[in-house]
Amino acid sequence: MASNKDSKVALVTGASRGIGAAVARRLARDGFTVVVNYSGSAAAAEDLAREIEQAGGRALTAKADVSDAEAVRRMFDAAEGAFGGVDVLVNNAGIMMLSPLAEADDENFGRQIGVNLKGTFNTLREAARRLRDGGRVINFSTSVVGLKLENYGVYAATKAAVETLTAIMAKEMRGRNITVNAIAPGPVATDLFLNGKTEELISRMAKMNPLERLGSPEDIASAVAFLAGPDGGWINGQTLRANGGVI
Ligand code: NAP
Repeated sequence: MASNKDSKVALVTGASRGIGAAVARRLARDGFTVVVNYSGSAAAAEDLAREIEQAGGRALTAKADVSDAEAVRRMFDAAEGAFGGVDVLVNNAGIMMLSPLAEADDENFGRQIGVNLKGTFNTLREAARRLRDGGRVINFSTSVVGLKLENYGVYAATKAAVETLTAIMAKEMRGRNITVNAIAPGPVATDLFLNGKTEELISRMAKMNPLERLGSPEDIASAVAFLAGPDGGWINGQTLRANGGVI
């Protein structure tokens, strides 16, 4: 692990639970100082930051609803104030509301656009202005952009837009040695995937890929760690589907 003073700073959105918490833990283990963003789960975020510090790492919690541009700006201010700058942005915060288009209401549409697309835009804009040279951006899409399952329309559309932002921002970072990529997980065993599904549906979806299991948050954290670390430096403008081979 790099000494605390020299360590790079990674800001992980939605790091209080699920995949984001696994990413924060893994990046801390890899020597990054971690900013643990959350919107509602303060206790879980504080526990995670304490766990990271007890293991010898460095962490700061930052409350910000990513859909609120001003709150995102303040979060970057806080990270820069505490650690001098930000090197890595992991845009993991996201929500999923499934329904056929015929039944999707305006609130369902607006909330998913607000968190998944506007939220990603808000943090990308700050990162484009403020990330230190040599930095990394890792956005979150979903393999449903490829699978195109019924009921996922609005959710998948927000993530398809994230993939497009990823490729364009990679070009806009020319000259700064900053890479911008996206991870597109398949089904992962977190609240976002499991809530509201029957055991039967969960087991059917788990077996869709040839490895015949759900992804774990740690599977996805490993892929993020690759893109954030020295071995991922030549990957740029790409979307990496981490899904056991479902598509
Ligand atoms: P999760 O278990 O529901 O956790 C979501 C995290 O995002 C929580 O830490 C939550 O924090 C945070 N969050 C939600 N809204 C937020 C907001 N407005 N501002 C800041 N933080 C917010 O979800 P997950 O499964 O870990 O998903 C993580 C990412 O992976 C998402 O982008 C999701 O679309 C993507 N993904 C997941 C799967 C899957 O199968 N799980 C598959 C493909 C892609 P609080 O509790 O503090 O609000």
